[in-house]
Amino acid sequence: MKIYKIAAIPGDGIGPEVVAAGVEVMHALATRNGSFTFAFDHFDWGGEYYKKHGRMMPVNGRDLIRNHDAILFGSAGHPEIPDHITLWGLRLNICQPFDQYANVRPTRILPGITSPLRNVTDRELDWVIVRENSEGEYAGVGGRVHQGSPLEAATDVAVFTRAGVERVMRFAFRLAGSRPRKLLTVVTKSNAQRHAMVMWDEIAAEVASEFPAVAWDKMLVDAMTMRMVIRPQTLDTIVATNLHADILSDLAAALAGSLGIAPTGNINPERTFPSMFEPIHGSAFDIMGKGIANPIGTFWSAVMLLEHLGEKLAADRLMDAIKRVTADPRFHTPDLGGKARTVDVTSAVIDAIHGANR
Ligand code: NAD
Ligand code: MN
Repeated sequence: MKIYKIAAIPGDGIGPEVVAAGVEVMHALATRNGSFTFAFDHFDWGGEYYKKHGRMMPVNGRDLIRNHDAILFGSAGHPEIPDHITLWGLRLNICQPFDQYANVRPTRILPGITSPLRNVTDRELDWVIVRENSEGEYAGVGGRVHQGSPLEAATDVAVFTRAGVERVMRFAFRLAGSRPRKLLTVVTKSNAQRHAMVMWDEIAAEVASEFPAVAWDKMLVDAMTMRMVIRPQTLDTIVATNLHADILSDLAAALAGSLGIAPTGNINPERTFPSMFEPIHGSAFDIMGKGIANPIGTFWSAVMLLEHLGEKLAADRLMDAIKRVTADPRFHTPDLGGKARTVDVTSAVIDAIHGANR
Protein backbone atom coordinates (compact mmCIF):
# COMPACT_ATOMS: atom_id res chain seq x y z
CA MET A 1 0.00 0.00 0.00
CA LYS A 2 1.30 3.37 -1.00
CA ILE A 3 1.65 5.94 1.80
CA TYR A 4 1.70 9.62 0.88
CA LYS A 5 3.33 11.89 3.44
CA ILE A 6 1.44 15.17 3.60
CA ALA A 7 2.48 18.23 5.61
CA ALA A 8 -0.62 20.04 6.89
CA ILE A 9 -0.10 23.71 7.76
CA PRO A 10 -3.49 25.12 8.82
CA GLY A 11 -2.23 28.61 9.75
CA ASP A 12 -4.71 31.11 11.16
CA GLY A 13 -8.30 32.33 11.02
CA ILE A 14 -10.53 29.82 9.24
CA GLY A 15 -7.40 27.98 8.02
CA PRO A 16 -7.57 25.35 10.81
CA GLU A 17 -11.32 24.86 10.24
CA VAL A 18 -11.03 24.17 6.50
CA VAL A 19 -7.81 22.16 6.74
CA ALA A 20 -9.33 19.87 9.40
CA ALA A 21 -12.24 19.31 7.01
CA GLY A 22 -9.83 18.66 4.14
CA VAL A 23 -7.85 16.09 6.15
CA GLU A 24 -11.05 14.26 7.07
CA VAL A 25 -12.18 14.12 3.44
CA MET A 26 -8.77 12.94 2.22
CA HIS A 27 -8.77 10.09 4.77
CA ALA A 28 -12.25 9.08 3.60
CA LEU A 29 -11.08 9.12 0.01
CA ALA A 30 -8.07 6.92 0.80
CA THR A 31 -10.34 4.43 2.60
CA ARG A 32 -12.73 4.38 -0.36
CA ASN A 33 -9.89 4.00 -2.86
CA GLY A 34 -8.03 1.26 -1.02
CA SER A 35 -4.69 1.54 -2.83
CA PHE A 36 -3.06 4.32 -0.82
CA THR A 37 -3.20 6.05 2.57
CA PHE A 38 -2.23 9.51 3.76
CA ALA A 39 0.16 10.08 6.66
CA PHE A 40 -0.33 13.67 7.81
CA ASP A 41 2.16 15.66 9.83
CA HIS A 42 0.61 18.77 11.36
CA PHE A 43 2.58 21.98 11.83
CA ASP A 44 1.25 24.68 14.13
CA TRP A 45 2.99 27.51 12.26
CA GLY A 46 1.38 30.93 11.89
CA GLY A 47 0.24 33.84 14.03
CA GLU A 48 -0.05 32.03 17.37
CA TYR A 49 3.39 30.49 16.82
CA TYR A 50 4.69 34.00 16.04
CA LYS A 51 3.33 35.36 19.30
CA LYS A 52 5.32 32.71 21.19
CA HIS A 53 8.51 32.54 19.12
CA GLY A 54 8.78 35.85 17.23
CA ARG A 55 8.67 34.12 13.86
CA MET A 56 5.98 32.46 11.78
CA MET A 57 7.76 29.12 11.40
CA PRO A 58 10.95 27.62 12.84
CA VAL A 59 14.34 28.47 11.29
CA ASN A 60 14.66 24.86 10.11
CA GLY A 61 10.95 24.70 9.18
CA ARG A 62 11.50 23.97 5.52
CA ASP A 63 13.80 21.05 6.40
CA LEU A 64 10.88 19.49 8.27
CA ILE A 65 8.65 19.47 5.18
CA ARG A 66 11.00 19.22 2.21
CA ASN A 67 10.66 15.44 1.94
CA HIS A 68 6.88 15.32 2.13
CA ASP A 69 4.96 14.38 -1.01
CA ALA A 70 2.84 17.53 -0.81
CA ILE A 71 1.76 20.35 1.50
CA LEU A 72 -1.84 21.23 2.40
CA PHE A 73 -2.00 24.84 3.53
CA GLY A 74 -4.79 26.88 5.16
CA SER A 75 -4.20 30.60 5.47
CA ALA A 76 -1.57 33.06 6.65
CA GLY A 77 -3.07 36.16 8.28
CA HIS A 78 -3.69 37.03 11.95
CA PRO A 79 -5.81 39.90 13.26
CA GLU A 80 -3.03 41.09 15.62
CA ILE A 81 -0.05 40.84 13.24
CA PRO A 82 0.63 42.99 10.14
CA ASP A 83 -0.20 41.14 6.91
CA HIS A 84 3.23 41.58 5.32
CA ILE A 85 4.81 39.76 8.27
CA THR A 86 2.43 36.80 8.19
CA LEU A 87 2.53 36.51 4.39
CA TRP A 88 6.30 36.77 3.96
CA GLY A 89 7.04 34.81 7.13
CA LEU A 90 5.02 31.76 6.21
CA ARG A 91 3.45 31.40 2.78
CA LEU A 92 6.10 33.18 0.72
CA ASN A 93 8.79 31.68 2.96
CA ILE A 94 7.72 28.30 1.59
CA CYS A 95 6.64 29.14 -1.99
CA GLN A 96 9.74 31.04 -3.00
CA PRO A 97 12.55 28.84 -1.58
CA PHE A 98 10.69 25.71 -2.73
CA ASP A 99 10.57 27.23 -6.21
CA GLN A 100 6.83 26.74 -6.58
CA TYR A 101 6.90 29.13 -9.50
CA ALA A 102 3.62 28.17 -11.14
CA ASN A 103 0.55 29.05 -9.15
CA VAL A 104 -2.34 27.29 -10.88
CA ARG A 105 -5.90 28.51 -10.28
CA PRO A 106 -8.77 26.70 -11.97
CA THR A 107 -12.09 28.54 -12.14
CA ARG A 108 -15.38 26.88 -13.02
CA ILE A 109 -18.98 27.37 -12.02
CA LEU A 110 -19.86 24.23 -10.07
CA PRO A 111 -23.34 22.67 -10.26
CA GLY A 112 -25.86 24.46 -8.07
CA ILE A 113 -23.75 27.61 -7.82
CA THR A 114 -24.96 30.82 -9.46
CA SER A 115 -22.50 33.20 -11.05
CA PRO A 116 -23.11 36.91 -10.46
CA LEU A 117 -22.81 37.15 -14.25
CA ARG A 118 -26.19 36.85 -15.91
CA ASN A 119 -26.75 33.89 -18.25
CA VAL A 120 -23.28 32.42 -17.92
CA THR A 121 -23.15 28.63 -17.88
CA ASP A 122 -20.45 26.30 -16.63
CA ARG A 123 -19.43 25.63 -20.22
CA GLU A 124 -18.84 29.32 -20.85
CA LEU A 125 -16.68 29.89 -17.80
CA ASP A 126 -13.94 27.28 -17.58
CA TRP A 127 -10.60 28.93 -17.00
CA VAL A 128 -7.20 28.14 -15.54
CA ILE A 129 -5.15 31.09 -14.42
CA VAL A 130 -1.39 30.55 -14.19
CA ARG A 131 0.20 33.05 -11.84
CA GLU A 132 3.96 33.64 -11.88
CA ASN A 133 4.74 32.83 -8.27
CA SER A 134 8.41 33.50 -7.65
CA GLU A 135 9.39 37.01 -8.75
CA GLY A 136 7.92 40.06 -10.46
CA GLU A 137 6.15 42.59 -8.28
CA TYR A 138 6.48 40.30 -5.22
CA ALA A 139 10.23 39.79 -5.55
CA GLY A 140 10.63 41.54 -2.22
CA VAL A 141 13.19 44.00 -3.52
CA GLY A 142 12.93 47.57 -2.32
CA GLY A 143 13.37 49.68 0.74
CA ARG A 144 12.28 52.58 2.90
CA VAL A 145 14.28 55.54 4.08
CA HIS A 146 13.67 58.63 6.23
CA GLN A 147 10.69 57.02 7.88
CA GLY A 148 8.35 59.51 9.46
CA SER A 149 10.00 62.55 7.90
CA PRO A 150 8.55 64.50 4.97
CA LEU A 151 11.46 63.15 2.92
CA GLU A 152 10.30 59.57 3.47
CA ALA A 153 10.70 57.39 0.38
CA ALA A 154 9.70 53.82 -0.37
CA THR A 155 10.20 51.51 -3.34
CA ASP A 156 8.99 48.07 -4.37
CA VAL A 157 10.99 47.01 -7.39
CA ALA A 158 9.41 44.48 -9.74
CA VAL A 159 12.12 42.04 -10.79
CA PHE A 160 11.59 39.93 -13.90
CA THR A 161 14.26 37.53 -15.09
CA ARG A 162 14.42 35.88 -18.50
CA ALA A 163 14.71 32.48 -16.85
CA GLY A 164 11.74 33.18 -14.58
CA VAL A 165 9.50 34.40 -17.38
CA GLU A 166 10.50 31.64 -19.81
CA ARG A 167 9.72 28.87 -17.36
CA VAL A 168 6.27 30.14 -16.41
CA MET A 169 5.41 30.84 -20.08
CA ARG A 170 6.45 27.31 -21.02
CA PHE A 171 4.37 25.92 -18.18
CA ALA A 172 1.34 27.95 -19.31
CA PHE A 173 1.66 27.04 -23.00
CA ARG A 174 2.05 23.36 -22.08
CA LEU A 175 -1.01 23.51 -19.81
CA ALA A 176 -3.05 25.33 -22.48
CA GLY A 177 -2.01 22.65 -25.00
CA SER A 178 -3.28 19.91 -22.67
CA ARG A 179 -6.77 21.44 -22.51
CA PRO A 180 -9.40 20.89 -25.20
CA ARG A 181 -9.49 24.46 -26.49
CA LYS A 182 -5.69 24.91 -26.68
CA LEU A 183 -6.08 28.62 -26.09
CA LEU A 184 -3.80 30.88 -24.01
CA THR A 185 -4.23 34.55 -23.13
CA VAL A 186 -1.06 36.34 -22.03
CA VAL A 187 -1.86 39.25 -19.70
CA THR A 188 0.47 42.22 -19.84
CA LYS A 189 0.82 45.95 -19.22
CA SER A 190 3.51 46.74 -21.75
CA ASN A 191 1.95 50.02 -22.78
CA ALA A 192 2.74 51.66 -19.44
CA GLN A 193 5.55 49.48 -18.09
CA ARG A 194 8.04 49.67 -20.86
CA HIS A 195 10.88 47.46 -19.63
CA ALA A 196 9.95 44.27 -17.86
CA MET A 197 6.51 43.96 -19.46
CA VAL A 198 8.00 44.43 -22.91
CA MET A 199 10.44 41.60 -22.17
CA TRP A 200 7.49 39.55 -20.89
CA ASP A 201 5.70 40.02 -24.25
CA GLU A 202 8.82 39.18 -26.26
CA ILE A 203 9.38 35.97 -24.31
CA ALA A 204 5.72 35.02 -24.74
CA ALA A 205 6.11 35.31 -28.52
CA GLU A 206 9.34 33.28 -28.46
CA VAL A 207 7.88 30.49 -26.34
CA ALA A 208 4.71 30.50 -28.47
CA SER A 209 6.77 29.36 -31.45
CA GLU A 210 7.58 26.15 -29.53
CA PHE A 211 3.85 25.42 -29.24
CA PRO A 212 2.34 25.77 -32.73
CA ALA A 213 -0.81 23.87 -31.67
CA VAL A 214 -1.71 26.51 -29.05
CA ALA A 215 -3.59 29.61 -30.19
CA TRP A 216 -2.68 32.64 -28.08
CA ASP A 217 -3.48 36.28 -27.68
CA LYS A 218 -2.33 39.18 -25.54
CA MET A 219 -4.42 41.42 -23.28
CA LEU A 220 -3.59 44.51 -21.25
CA VAL A 221 -4.55 43.75 -17.66
CA ASP A 222 -7.12 46.54 -17.36
CA ALA A 223 -8.90 45.43 -20.53
CA MET A 224 -8.66 41.86 -19.24
CA THR A 225 -10.97 42.64 -16.29
CA MET A 226 -13.63 43.76 -18.78
CA ARG A 227 -13.19 40.72 -21.00
CA MET A 228 -13.54 38.38 -17.99
CA VAL A 229 -16.89 39.98 -17.18
CA ILE A 230 -18.29 40.71 -20.63
CA ARG A 231 -16.93 37.86 -22.79
CA PRO A 232 -15.93 35.08 -20.36
CA GLN A 233 -16.46 32.39 -23.00
CA THR A 234 -13.54 33.76 -25.07
CA LEU A 235 -11.01 32.75 -22.39
CA ASP A 236 -9.50 29.42 -21.43
CA THR A 237 -5.94 29.34 -20.04
CA ILE A 238 -4.50 32.63 -18.78
CA VAL A 239 -0.95 33.54 -17.76
CA ALA A 240 -0.12 36.69 -15.82
CA THR A 241 2.45 38.20 -13.48
CA ASN A 242 2.42 37.67 -9.74
CA LEU A 243 0.46 40.89 -9.01
CA HIS A 244 -1.82 40.87 -12.04
CA ALA A 245 -2.84 37.24 -11.54
CA ASP A 246 -3.32 37.80 -7.81
CA ILE A 247 -5.97 40.39 -8.58
CA LEU A 248 -7.52 38.67 -11.59
CA SER A 249 -7.95 35.41 -9.70
CA ASP A 250 -9.99 37.03 -6.92
CA LEU A 251 -12.23 38.44 -9.66
CA ALA A 252 -12.38 35.00 -11.26
CA ALA A 253 -13.32 33.40 -7.94
CA ALA A 254 -16.12 35.91 -7.41
CA LEU A 255 -17.44 35.39 -10.95
CA ALA A 256 -17.55 31.65 -10.28
CA GLY A 257 -19.77 32.19 -7.25
CA SER A 258 -17.63 32.57 -4.12
CA LEU A 259 -14.10 33.01 -2.88
CA GLY A 260 -14.84 30.07 -0.58
CA ILE A 261 -14.83 27.62 -3.50
CA ALA A 262 -11.67 28.52 -5.39
CA PRO A 263 -8.61 26.25 -5.12
CA THR A 264 -4.98 26.69 -6.00
CA GLY A 265 -1.77 24.74 -6.38
CA ASN A 266 1.67 26.26 -5.89
CA ILE A 267 3.51 23.94 -8.23
CA ASN A 268 7.17 23.07 -8.48
CA PRO A 269 6.96 21.42 -11.92
CA GLU A 270 10.43 19.85 -11.71
CA ARG A 271 9.49 18.29 -8.34
CA THR A 272 12.75 19.33 -6.72
CA PHE A 273 10.62 20.35 -3.70
CA PRO A 274 7.07 19.51 -2.65
CA SER A 275 4.22 21.51 -4.13
CA MET A 276 1.69 23.26 -1.91
CA PHE A 277 -2.10 23.25 -2.23
CA GLU A 278 -4.47 25.73 -0.57
CA PRO A 279 -7.80 27.46 -0.94
CA ILE A 280 -7.24 30.91 -2.43
CA HIS A 281 -9.16 32.67 0.33
CA GLY A 282 -7.49 34.10 3.42
CA SER A 283 -8.14 33.91 7.16
CA ALA A 284 -11.66 35.43 6.93
CA PHE A 285 -11.55 37.06 10.38
CA ASP A 286 -15.24 38.01 10.10
CA ILE A 287 -16.38 34.37 10.22
CA MET A 288 -13.55 32.58 12.04
CA GLY A 289 -14.55 30.27 14.88
CA LYS A 290 -18.19 30.28 13.78
CA GLY A 291 -18.10 26.93 12.00
CA ILE A 292 -19.54 28.34 8.79
CA ALA A 293 -16.44 28.56 6.58
CA ASN A 294 -16.97 26.99 3.17
CA PRO A 295 -14.56 24.03 2.94
CA ILE A 296 -15.09 23.45 -0.81
CA GLY A 297 -12.02 25.52 -1.78
CA THR A 298 -9.89 23.23 0.38
CA PHE A 299 -11.54 20.07 -1.00
CA TRP A 300 -10.94 21.24 -4.58
CA SER A 301 -7.33 21.99 -3.61
CA ALA A 302 -7.12 18.37 -2.42
CA VAL A 303 -8.29 17.34 -5.90
CA MET A 304 -5.34 19.25 -7.36
CA LEU A 305 -3.02 17.64 -4.80
CA LEU A 306 -4.21 14.17 -5.87
CA GLU A 307 -3.75 15.04 -9.54
CA HIS A 308 -0.22 16.18 -8.74
CA LEU A 309 0.46 12.82 -7.05
CA GLY A 310 -0.82 11.05 -10.16
CA GLU A 311 -3.93 9.68 -8.38
CA LYS A 312 -6.31 10.54 -11.23
CA LEU A 313 -9.07 8.14 -10.20
CA ALA A 314 -9.20 9.45 -6.64
CA ALA A 315 -9.02 13.06 -7.88
CA ASP A 316 -11.98 12.48 -10.22
CA ARG A 317 -13.91 10.74 -7.46
CA LEU A 318 -13.43 13.66 -5.08
CA MET A 319 -14.37 16.21 -7.77
CA ASP A 320 -17.55 14.23 -8.51
CA ALA A 321 -18.40 14.19 -4.81
CA ILE A 322 -17.84 17.95 -4.56
CA LYS A 323 -20.13 18.60 -7.55
CA ARG A 324 -22.83 16.36 -6.16
CA VAL A 325 -22.76 18.30 -2.90
CA THR A 326 -22.69 21.80 -4.41
CA ALA A 327 -25.66 20.81 -6.59
CA ASP A 328 -27.74 20.47 -3.41
CA PRO A 329 -28.60 23.89 -1.88
CA ARG A 330 -29.07 22.26 1.54
CA PHE A 331 -25.29 22.07 1.65
CA HIS A 332 -24.61 25.69 0.77
CA THR A 333 -22.76 27.70 3.44
CA PRO A 334 -23.76 31.35 4.09
CA ASP A 335 -21.26 32.72 1.51
CA LEU A 336 -23.40 30.90 -1.08
CA GLY A 337 -26.64 32.15 0.46
CA GLY A 338 -27.35 28.96 2.43
CA LYS A 339 -27.46 27.86 6.05
CA ALA A 340 -25.13 24.87 6.05
CA ARG A 341 -22.17 24.61 8.40
CA THR A 342 -18.65 23.43 7.61
CA VAL A 343 -19.35 20.04 9.21
CA ASP A 344 -22.53 19.55 7.14
CA VAL A 345 -20.67 20.11 3.87
CA THR A 346 -17.82 17.88 5.02
CA SER A 347 -20.02 14.94 5.94
CA ALA A 348 -22.05 15.34 2.75
CA VAL A 349 -18.85 15.12 0.68
CA ILE A 350 -17.72 12.07 2.66
CA ASP A 351 -21.11 10.42 2.07
CA ALA A 352 -20.83 11.22 -1.63
CA ILE A 353 -17.33 9.68 -1.73
CA HIS A 354 -18.62 6.44 -0.25
CA GLY A 355 -21.70 6.47 -2.43
CA ALA A 356 -19.72 7.21 -5.57
CA ASN A 357 -19.95 4.31 -8.00
CA ARG A 358 -16.74 4.89 -9.87
P1 NAD B 1 -10.37 36.70 3.02
O1 NAD B 1 -10.28 35.73 1.88
O2 NAD B 1 -9.89 36.21 4.31
O3 NAD B 1 -11.90 37.16 3.18
C1 NAD B 1 -12.61 37.91 2.21
C2 NAD B 1 -14.12 37.70 2.38
O4 NAD B 1 -14.48 36.40 1.88
C3 NAD B 1 -14.57 37.72 3.84
O5 NAD B 1 -15.82 38.33 3.92
C4 NAD B 1 -14.68 36.25 4.20
O6 NAD B 1 -15.61 35.96 5.21
C5 NAD B 1 -15.08 35.62 2.88
N1 NAD B 1 -14.54 34.25 2.80
C6 NAD B 1 -13.26 33.91 2.52
N2 NAD B 1 -13.12 32.58 2.56
C7 NAD B 1 -14.33 32.07 2.87
C8 NAD B 1 -14.80 30.74 3.07
N3 NAD B 1 -14.01 29.66 2.94
N4 NAD B 1 -16.10 30.57 3.40
C9 NAD B 1 -16.91 31.63 3.51
N5 NAD B 1 -16.53 32.91 3.33
C10 NAD B 1 -15.23 33.13 3.02
O7 NAD B 1 -9.57 38.01 2.57
P2 NAD B 1 -9.15 39.29 3.43
O8 NAD B 1 -10.27 39.66 4.34
O9 NAD B 1 -8.65 40.25 2.45
O10 NAD B 1 -7.91 38.81 4.30
C11 NAD B 1 -7.98 38.39 5.67
C12 NAD B 1 -6.61 37.91 6.10
O11 NAD B 1 -6.21 36.77 5.34
C13 NAD B 1 -5.50 38.95 5.91
O12 NAD B 1 -4.61 38.83 6.99
C14 NAD B 1 -4.82 38.52 4.64
O13 NAD B 1 -3.48 38.91 4.56
C15 NAD B 1 -4.94 37.02 4.74
N6 NAD B 1 -4.90 36.33 3.42
C16 NAD B 1 -4.13 35.22 3.33
C17 NAD B 1 -4.11 34.50 2.15
C18 NAD B 1 -3.26 33.25 2.06
O14 NAD B 1 -2.71 32.83 3.05
N7 NAD B 1 -3.15 32.63 0.93
C19 NAD B 1 -4.89 34.90 1.05
C20 NAD B 1 -5.69 36.05 1.19
C21 NAD B 1 -5.69 36.75 2.37
MN1 MN C 1 -4.59 37.10 -3.32
